[in-house]
Amino acid sequence: MYAPGHVGIALLCYSPVAALLTHNGRHRERRAGTVGVLVCAALPDADLYIIQLMHRGITHTLWMALAVALVFGITGWATGRHGSRAASSARFGFAVGALGVGSHLAGDVITPLGLRPLYPLSDATYSLALVYSRTPAVNVAFFALGVGAFAASHALARAGRLTVLPGVTDAPRGNAPVLGEGDAGP
Ligand SMILES: [Zn+2]
Repeated sequence: MYAPGHVGIALLCYSPVAALLTHNGRHRERRAGTVGVLVCAALPDADLYIIQLMHRGITHTLWMALAVALVFGITGWATGRHGSRAASSARFGFAVGALGVGSHLAGDVITPLGLRPLYPLSDATYSLALVYSRTPAVNVAFFALGVGAFAASHALARAGRLTVLPGVTDAPRGNAPVLGEGDAGP
């Protein structure tokens, strides 16, 4: 998949999370998560620019997803460690990293070239061979789908319509304080 397609798939995957964050008034986390997911979704294709790395090699594995998730988890913990949110920030960061890289892997496994998720432990290649990476229409379609889903879910959340979903109740405190904003100290 090319960059527009990866952006779309990443937004598509993140839309439910972003909508719930909007619903709960956690706008700062939603914005940070959006940036994080998009960055992580772009990382695996860094191998296109690093001559020593084989394309769809180590950067397109579950190990990469785990490593990036750990880095983002630690970053989340460091961000929230001064408040009472260290654990939840760490979990959120981990999820953002895993979701971003995972969405990239999902976008590539549907192409004929596929990927080797356990490389170098295993050379087994997996491919669903549904679409070609280079097909412009496929990339445009995923991009439009992702942006559309993200915008629509955000609008529904802002309108308070998520309560029709099972397990989603009214936001507990309206615009709940988000990371750091509740701290009155210097
Ligand atoms: Zn890729």
